[in-house]
Amino acid sequence: MALSRRAFLTLLAGTSLFAPSALAAGTDETFALAGTVYPGRGAPLPGHAVLVRQGRIEDVVPIREVNDRPVFATGNGSILPGVINAHCHNLHTADERRARWLEHGVTAIGDAASPLKFLTALQDSPAGQTATASACGPMLCPPGGYPLPIHSPDHALAVASTGQGSDAVKRLADLGVRRIKIAFEPGTLPKPWPVFDPTVARAICDTAHRLGLGVRCHVEDLSGLEPALDAGVDYIEHVPYRWHDRGTIRPVIDPDNAPVPHYRKLLERMTRDRVIMTPTLDVFTRTPWNGPSLFAPVRAFHAMGGRIALGNDFPYRRTDAGMPVQEMKLLAKAGLDESAVIEAATSTAAEVCGFTNRGRIAPGMAADLLAVRGYPTPDALQDPVHIVKDGVFIR
Ligand SMILES: [Zn+2]
Repeated sequence: MALSRRAFLTLLAGTSLFAPSALAAGTDETFALAGTVYPGRGAPLPGHAVLVRQGRIEDVVPIREVNDRPVFATGNGSILPGVINAHCHNLHTADERRARWLEHGVTAIGDAASPLKFLTALQDSPAGQTATASACGPMLCPPGGYPLPIHSPDHALAVASTGQGSDAVKRLADLGVRRIKIAFEPGTLPKPWPVFDPTVARAICDTAHRLGLGVRCHVEDLSGLEPALDAGVDYIEHVPYRWHDRGTIRPVIDPDNAPVPHYRKLLERMTRDRVIMTPTLDVFTRTPWNGPSLFAPVRAFHAMGGRIALGNDFPYRRTDAGMPVQEMKLLAKAGLDESAVIEAATSTAAEVCGFTNRGRIAPGMAADLLAVRGYPTPDALQDPVHIVKDGVFIR
């Protein structure tokens, strides 16, 4: 089949034929973005166009089949889902999320715990105007447990019993959170912080699952990983890089940079149970723990087929908002190739956040899209040619 005249001209020009600003008024526009399409999961489709109508993705078809709408193409360009930063904090209002995330190509974020008073702001995500937010509300913790020793009291809801745990989950569910956040964090020796009684953690996870909510669990210390998995959490936040084993500090990796057998067994269990890890390497490479203890477990987990999501834990340790280029580069350093990094930053990140209609390019999904020059490398993603949110051109 011949190229439509419009597609032909677009390809010839190697650039956009239509000024996107003319289409920025609402979400009812009909257009196509063309190039090599990275669906967010699975193989890229060269020479394809993503059809957008009324804020949603209609279809993905060969470019030559498009003849009923404007086609935006970038010479040798790529189209991919908007990037999702699955683990960050702060920037609660719609205006802040637009300026600091959306205008850089991050079309959705997972707020991995914030004080309750910010929940309303996070839930204000008008279509096409800001980065959609998934919120957990405050973290649930045992009395005196993390995050209370180092963060202000409004970052946590302390629960002391199975009943209080279930009630807290129900209360947060009523307030509209998409995910529940807990922690198994003993802190550093000599005086460990209290961690959840297993029955309380189990009650939190069971109640969350009954209400359709996944549970995200902060685990920096390997001693917290097994109890977290036993409780039934769905997502591990951070990569465990230290191990305080009942009063003794042990290494998490062998001299040959492989996770120690206990760690490896738990990573295999996560792989089997499809528990997703969001390693947040950006924040930890800014600490004294930077090194093989961070990268070797991520590398081993990825090699065994473990699922990894992108998040950078902004704003801690001076991590930045905007396109999380540094986290992408660090995931690559841990062994993820280009398409694995994109999957971590789109479809898998969407799953961690509970976005069922974002993170992939497929019919019916929200039209959160990026167009970049050439391959979607971290550097290309730093400066997208087009940013589309719910079918609206932001750039
Ligand atoms: Zn965090």
